[in-house]
Amino acid sequence: MLKVLVTEKISEAGLDVLRQDPEVQLFVKTGLSREELLAEVRDVDGMITRSGTPLDPEVLDAAKRLRAAARAGVGLDNIDLAEASRKGVVVINAPTGNTLAATEHTMAMMLSMVRKVPQAFQSLASGEWKRSRFLGRQLSGKRLLVVGLGRIGTQVAARCRAFGMEVSAYDPYVSQAKADRAGVRLMEDLKGALSLADVVTLHVPLTAETRGIIDGEAIKACRPGAYLVNCARGGLVDEAACAEALRSGHLAGAAIDVYDGEPPRPDNPLLADDIREKVILTPHIGANTEEAQSAVAVIACSNLLASLKGKPCENAVNLPFVEQSLPEGTRAFLSLARKLGYLAAHLSREPATQLKVSLRGPLFSPAEEPVCFEIPYHFSPFTVAGLKGYLEYSHGPEVNYMSAPMLAEDKGIRIEESRTGPGTWRNQVELELFSPGSREGISVSGTITEEGRQRVVNIGGYWIEFIPEGTVLLFSNHDRPGVIGKVGTLLGRAGTNIANFALGRRNGSGLAVGALQIDDDVPMPVLEELKKDVDLLWAVKVRFTEDL
Ligand code: NAD
Repeated sequence: MLKVLVTEKISEAGLDVLRQDPEVQLFVKTGLSREELLAEVRDVDGMITRSGTPLDPEVLDAAKRLRAAARAGVGLDNIDLAEASRKGVVVINAPTGNTLAATEHTMAMMLSMVRKVPQAFQSLASGEWKRSRFLGRQLSGKRLLVVGLGRIGTQVAARCRAFGMEVSAYDPYVSQAKADRAGVRLMEDLKGALSLADVVTLHVPLTAETRGIIDGEAIKACRPGAYLVNCARGGLVDEAACAEALRSGHLAGAAIDVYDGEPPRPDNPLLADDIREKVILTPHIGANTEEAQSAVAVIACSNLLASLKGKPCENAVNLPFVEQSLPEGTRAFLSLARKLGYLAAHLSREPATQLKVSLRGPLFSPAEEPVCFEIPYHFSPFTVAGLKGYLEYSHGPEVNYMSAPMLAEDKGIRIEESRTGPGTWRNQVELELFSPGSREGISVSGTITEEGRQRVVNIGGYWIEFIPEGTVLLFSNHDRPGVIGKVGTLLGRAGTNIANFALGRRNGSGLAVGALQIDDDVPMPVLEELKKDVDLLWAVKVRFTEDL
């Protein structure tokens, strides 16, 4: 049985998903004290929370059996993602459930702002009948800038286009093709884009990069008389600068649902009396619709169950990708990248401080890019796989796709990824490891052949072809007669059978690289003897086990 603990009130629709599963033992325990929480989590396999349950290192440590935790919502501020990843706990959220709710609230705020609906209502409710005081502006014909063309930004763009607005977007992480599909003009420079917009609406997450994205300088860059909407996250807008711009008339209006610190303190600059005519404030209700609450609970609960049962789970935020959802041909490169990382680790003599991954060929072009979660990883699945392979050499097979990027960060390994057109092969993955002591990096490249077979095709600039399977003896030697025979004799004497042999030379170097595919194993004394041979610069044995 799978024990699932629900610690906060979530929609019945979500609980039903758990109740209907015969393999689930459900415990709904809300309002737990910290001591109670630490006791309750001890033997649960899965947890469903909202924002009120801290999953910090102490709680994660107490939850020895925990394998997955889902947040019925989007924000993960209460969950220590890095610690959960280190412990191999899959963290899930439900970012898609409230997309339409947040979109519609943005529209409500935008329309209310330009027509001063709340102010007009307050005036009427206080007994006034002042029609001329509420002269508004129309959206039709105005220029809208969407900052962040993700799920909500795209939906807002579609609705605003239907309102007759001319829509542009600033989002350095989306492709031109996506902007074209959304029918919006993609802007490259935020300040320039702000200077052209009549209405600016924010739909980015709060990250180190986006905190204060609309600061005093950005507000100054806005057109005089522009309107600002923030239904995304508090902290994106400098609230004091925004209030000042409303006061001076530089901004005509602001509609805000989220605050830098919630609930906002009474002295929050946006609550100042003298700007009441120009602001519309709501208490972070963007996702508050019955439909959204029920959708996020169902998504969180069904994803949790999928994860606990080892099935693909599309909303895991600390799994950099869902392996099963990658197309067959792409998955072969994933395994290859992992083997290349593992191989490179054998060749490097010092811990690496930098890993460079070059993805060459059409398979890796952004248009064909497989789904890749942005938070908190920015690398392609292939890079993460290469990293995992590299770390598995020193940390064993328990390094997973979740913990590999965290481990690399802990070890101070800088990761660089580039994508280019085809190299020697149509699609090719190249890994380069750098360490402080070595002048040159260690590079390994591989490809998948037309028949779908993995091949290592280059080591340290030497073109060589071998299959990364079973036991492979790799060595570099002085390129002179008799060396290969000597290696063969030594192995033969130890009863080691060579299944395949490949040699790579580099013009003018006087050196070569050899790869021998061995039937079973190379005994350690033989390897030691080879390493001592005057003609060999280095020799390593790599065992590509079945599970690699
Ligand atoms: P999303 O991940 O689908 O889209 C975010 C977009 O922002 C992505 O396209 C990303 O490329 C872009 N982005 C990231 N950094 C950027 C930068 N520096 N400059 C420009 N663009 C950048 O997210 P979403 O589901 O559309 O949600 C958008 C925001 O709305 C989030 O902050 C989310 O938390 C918030 N939200 C608020 C409510 C609410 O109650 N008010 C409800 C739901 C979502």
